[in-house]
Amino acid sequence: MADEWTRYLAQQMELGGAEVILQAGAGGSGREQTGADGSGREVAGASGAPASVGPPARSRPLPPAPAQPKWKRGAPPIPGPGVYIEPPTPTLLGGDGLSDLATLDAVAERIRTTQCCALCAGRTNAVPGEGDPDAKLVFIGEGPGATEDALGRPFVGQAGKLLDEIIQAIGLRREDVYITNIVKCRPPQNRKPLPDEMAACMPYLHRQLALLRPKVIVALGGTAAEALLNTRKSLGELRGKVHSYGGIPLVVTYHPAALLRNPNWKKPTWDDVRIARQLLDR
Ligand code: URA
Repeated sequence: MADEWTRYLAQQMELGGAEVILQAGAGGSGREQTGADGSGREVAGASGAPASVGPPARSRPLPPAPAQPKWKRGAPPIPGPGVYIEPPTPTLLGGDGLSDLATLDAVAERIRTTQCCALCAGRTNAVPGEGDPDAKLVFIGEGPGATEDALGRPFVGQAGKLLDEIIQAIGLRREDVYITNIVKCRPPQNRKPLPDEMAACMPYLHRQLALLRPKVIVALGGTAAEALLNTRKSLGELRGKVHSYGGIPLVVTYHPAALLRNPNWKKPTWDDVRIARQLLDR
């Protein structure tokens, strides 16, 4: 034992000698070494000298590394920054300010009871959005389709089923996130909403995002990305970057309906949503 000590101290001197060995019970008394601050941390003496020096701990097997969630395996690294957008103060075209709407339910009620553009006249139901009001992750699509219009709920048709699968694949449930659209009423024949329809409806989305204050936003498809980031850049240019919606990271990916048409886009979408998922954990 004495030889072991001598060798150890010589080695410490060679290395600079300042190391404090914190291993309670490593060749010592077996007592827990509680610092003067009660934290269990070792506290050095007033002179700055180590409070205890002991022989090196015998090597112990490391605890098993926590299992990695499936979505994380092979996930791409978080990419660099893209567009920055400062969210505008949400005001409807007639000058109706929305800042007095204090809850998501109040915003939904205003959407259901207001006609703000030509799309409203053709709706069966407005589709304000749904999900956890404390959601950390928000998905934003383009606009309601036929099933959504019939039920008044977002993403409940074929594209919605795929979105549910995507959400599950990153270890979340639909009820953990918030899902909404750029326009809240169905465009006829599911056409792309016109610029003035989007402009009329966007204040609702800005107010929803101000109330939600999510940690991450995912824009589903080029229309949602362009409207949110106020840019004419293509989906190809906007993917693969972390944009900023007033400081909230925003990731752009394919719309689930586009994946139904072209399954080759599933893999890049999977990469995009895993970037968003990593941002959630950051
Ligand atoms: N497509 C969208 O963009 N939104 C929906 O809610 C459904 C389909």
